[in-house]
Amino acid sequence: MAPVAENVQKVLESVKENKTTVAAVGLGGLAVAGAALYIRRRQLTPPAVGKYPVGTLPADAYDAVIVGAGPSGSVCAFYSAKAGAKVALLDKATFPRDKYCGDAVCTPAIRILEDMGVLKELMDNNEAHFADAGGFVSPMGISYVGASKEKLGEAACCAVKRINLDNRIAKKAKQAGADLKEGFEVTGATFDKEAGLWTVTAASGATVRGRMLVCADGATSQLATKLGYCTEAPRGVCSRAFVEGGTHNANFDGVCFYPKWSLPGYAALFKHPNDELNYCYYLIPCGKAGYCGDVTEADLARLHNDAITKDPFISAALGPNAKLERMRAASLRLGGQGLATTHDDHLMIIGDAAGHIDPLTGEGIHTAMMGGQAAANTLLDMRTTGDFSKASTAVYQRRWMAQYGHDFGLSTKFAELIYRYPIIMDAMASEVQRKGDAFMSKWAEIMTNMQPKTYFFRPDVAAQLGFAIVREVFEQKVLGKADKYQLKA
Ligand SMILES: Cc1cc2nc3c(=O)[nH]c(=O)nc-3n(C[C@H](O)[C@H](O)[C@H](O)COP(=O)(O)OP(=O)(O)OC[C@H]3O[C@@H](n4cnc5c(N)ncnc54)[C@H](O)[C@@H]3O)c2cc1C
Repeated sequence: MAPVAENVQKVLESVKENKTTVAAVGLGGLAVAGAALYIRRRQLTPPAVGKYPVGTLPADAYDAVIVGAGPSGSVCAFYSAKAGAKVALLDKATFPRDKYCGDAVCTPAIRILEDMGVLKELMDNNEAHFADAGGFVSPMGISYVGASKEKLGEAACCAVKRINLDNRIAKKAKQAGADLKEGFEVTGATFDKEAGLWTVTAASGATVRGRMLVCADGATSQLATKLGYCTEAPRGVCSRAFVEGGTHNANFDGVCFYPKWSLPGYAALFKHPNDELNYCYYLIPCGKAGYCGDVTEADLARLHNDAITKDPFISAALGPNAKLERMRAASLRLGGQGLATTHDDHLMIIGDAAGHIDPLTGEGIHTAMMGGQAAANTLLDMRTTGDFSKASTAVYQRRWMAQYGHDFGLSTKFAELIYRYPIIMDAMASEVQRKGDAFMSKWAEIMTNMQPKTYFFRPDVAAQLGFAIVREVFEQKVLGKADKYQLKA
């Protein structure tokens, strides 16, 4: 029996038994639950009637014009087109194209890729490496590398080069029916309120019209900036360099390194299928304006290059013969930074353009895809109702908030905590050393968004961590535990 019907049955039975007070309380509870369900449904459902039913769309126009064919834009285009919407997917690049990234694709993204049929293509072409042996090194040099896949029942993430990932998602969107226009550099967009239509213009002078505009043009989003929705430059930054396979010493799939001098930022090494490594150094905004902890964007090249030879853990993993390509870098817009909203009349902003990167980890591929899917579902709802107003696009904002947006605030707080009290990371590493893969897999789940950050507050987890912190304080401050994380001369 369904839980609600079961409850009703129980309440009726209790009435029969003359337990009137209990029954009244039960009925009252059901009424409140029903009202809450009704409000929730209303919040996640666009208004029922609108000015622009499908038949009003001019023949040359699209239901949506999506600017940017990265993970957010292409996923949005795929799900919209698959369900019958007419979408244009515009990108200034021609695929396959590179994108500076750590290439760590977390579980929520893996699930979407599987659903799209992209995961199979990646695996069939040996383009994805599922991480098993993984771990981290704490600010005091307490390290753990374990095997979390068995405990989790699946890999927490896999490594896929963006040149392959983005090409396959964009092409999948095209196969689903999206009109992929490559080499289409968008320079502006104007909205005709009367017609309820956007006109999107390219550098070449070409134009595309659509009922809905979806900004998916990445962290520096020129479009969202031009339209006035994004008011700041991104504050985070990250480097990337590939390391040639067979030239390094890394015998793991993925490790994050947390040297204390760049907290809450960190460096990461991730392995690709051909033994190639991806080396990244993330600087995460924290503390004073313009700072990422005690460092700024200007320190990135020094930190990245010094670590290769002087960081005791990174240099050991790379070894003396590692062949690295030159460092490249790109911006990180974390936790919705610089945007007051991600929606308006006939407009949604998704992925990095909306700042949908976790402010603790710097990871945004999975949130880009989840947001892209949420935007597609909202577009499809609006196509049904004909209402593309702010009230309808608000549903997209509620959807991404419910899926991962609430985590952003906690992630920001955790990043600040780690910066101010690195001992928390040491305690975590010590605890993982004691408890092994069972605890490591919990950490992996939280860091890859398989679990929300509120997981830290579960009484059993919080108590375990609290105890670990007390023990670490004692070991460091009273017993004088050695600091093993010092730069080599
Ligand atoms: C160095 C680095 C390392 C990272 N590591 C990881 C990681 O390991 N794991 C993870 O999950 N996340 C990581 N991220 C974040 C991740 O790269 C992004 O969150 C993700 O790419 C967001 O996808 P998106 O589709 O929103 O934007 P993008 O991937 O940036 O795609 C935007 C697209 O818009 C196009 N575009 C831009 N301007 C225009 C225009 N004017 N006209 C037409 N098209 C345009 C671009 O060509 C591009 O194809 C990293 C980021 C950086 C910088």
